[in-house]
Amino acid sequence: MGMFDKIRKNQAMISVPLGAAARKPARPSQEAAIPPAKSKEMSPEDTNIFAKCPACNAVLFTEDITENQMVCPRCQHHLRLSARQRLGYTVDEGSFVEMDAELAGNDPLQFPGYENKLRAARAYTGLTEAVVTGYATIQGEPVMIAVMDGNFMMGSMGAAVGEKITRCVEEATRRRLPVVIFTVSGGARMQEGLVSLMQMTKTSAALGRHGEAGLLYITVLTDPTTGGVTASFAMLGDIILAEPGALVGFAGKRVIEQTVKQSLPEGFQRAEFVMDKGFVDAIVPRRELPGRLGQLLRLHHQEVRHG
Ligand SMILES: [Zn+2]
Repeated sequence: MGMFDKIRKNQAMISVPLGAAARKPARPSQEAAIPPAKSKEMSPEDTNIFAKCPACNAVLFTEDITENQMVCPRCQHHLRLSARQRLGYTVDEGSFVEMDAELAGNDPLQFPGYENKLRAARAYTGLTEAVVTGYATIQGEPVMIAVMDGNFMMGSMGAAVGEKITRCVEEATRRRLPVVIFTVSGGARMQEGLVSLMQMTKTSAALGRHGEAGLLYITVLTDPTTGGVTASFAMLGDIILAEPGALVGFAGKRVIEQTVKQSLPEGFQRAEFVMDKGFVDAIVPRRELPGRLGQLLRLHHQEVRHG
């Protein structure tokens, strides 16, 4: 095999190792709090040495990407993270205490093939559902936090996801804590039909009570945030942050174009475009997120103390 073939072969494989790397816990301390994924690891010959950025196509050392918090060092493209990895990059080391880790959904409509899909998603991610919730501190500030995981059926929201988020928010109301939610979702989980749509009102009502109690809610929109999640808790934040380049929308571009019979502008539904239209308060690069969240939480904390 010539050198070129070898590189080509590497390029063909690299998108897979990158995904595997994304599921590794970011810090050893998180391993204790959250059980490691039982996903299949890459074989040694796949090596994970190279990874190709899906945005700029640069072939990079995987290590250079992981050390840069899964952000392409060439073009700053923000790769998707698992919930575990997100927690590792966001909360204070060792502070995360998970709640409802065993809460799992079932198959309320006996939807064909759904049970198998759930089983596969659980095996792949090591999670019982598409969101991880719990208590943590961010730069010393206590919060209740929910982090969605796009590796689990595209972060779709079924009954269990809605229930976990609702419980997390209700716990925050009881303990008078702020809530931080990282969203990543393909929307409602179609296999649960109406049951999944009801989660939109359930989560929104819990956040309504949290807001009435005068408590702060911050959302961080990550790539992609769409459908029923956008149409409920993602857009209800008192402060709405987004990662650079994140897709934020309700229906997909093609669906909208076919419906309104017009072509849509370039960059439509990207975080930057959405911010321009007033739906997002700030776009914050991944590396700056803990600092920015800490600052917002501290400001609010002081306001409560003195106000
Ligand atoms: Zn890139």
